[in-house]
Amino acid sequence: MASSNWGYDDKNGPEQWGKLYPIANGNKQSPIDIKTSETKHDTSLKPISISYDPATAKEIINVGHSFHVNYEDNDNRSVLRGGPLSESYRLCQFHFHWGSTNDYGSEHTVDGVKYSGEFHLVHWNSTKYSSFAEAISQANGLAIIGVLMKNKRAPFTNFDPSTLLPSSLDYWTYSGSLTHPPLYESVTWIICKDSISISPEQLAQFRSLLSTIEGDKAVPIQQNHRPPQPLKGRVVRASF
Ligand SMILES: [Zn+2]
Repeated sequence: MASSNWGYDDKNGPEQWGKLYPIANGNKQSPIDIKTSETKHDTSLKPISISYDPATAKEIINVGHSFHVNYEDNDNRSVLRGGPLSESYRLCQFHFHWGSTNDYGSEHTVDGVKYSGEFHLVHWNSTKYSSFAEAISQANGLAIIGVLMKNKRAPFTNFDPSTLLPSSLDYWTYSGSLTHPPLYESVTWIICKDSISISPEQLAQFRSLLSTIEGDKAVPIQQNHRPPQPLKGRVVRASF
């Protein structure tokens, strides 16, 4: 997904994406601000069922605007089921979003509150599609779990992603999009109600990662988050 025609600077950042990707102004864009008083408790929402095999972790790669930890996704060893989903979704990668200071950096906000970062676990619909590439642009093709990260001293040594989830898996869910180009509106978002902690040292490490866009000089990735987008009539459901 490395690309040189978009980024997070003034000249190629979120405010400019609509010029090349008109869907940026679509009806189901992400992230959003979750206004808790306007969410609807839905008793039909099931608990999230996660089954990850740590042996499916494959590689960590710098994609220019972030880094991705990729998972083997040619079978059902690491899957997400339940929650708002009626089908089975395979884990393919996880990544983080952060800001240039500890005061902000999450993509989703809750009642206007910004968090220091956000962790995304990306899954694709393996019931309907045969690969991430096939599912990415299709309705309900992807399911992404988002976890907000509070800046607080915390251990951060294990990359088994289920260990990074909060202990309660209560969640909000809504229909949205990828949060960076191509911004396809193919995502069932599952945002955990509880945040996890991330240390200032870990946030500083994220910011020291170098972008690797070919032809440009490598510069640190200071921040890589999109601000909240208009809800446009969508309903955010709560499992709790
Ligand atoms: Zn993301």
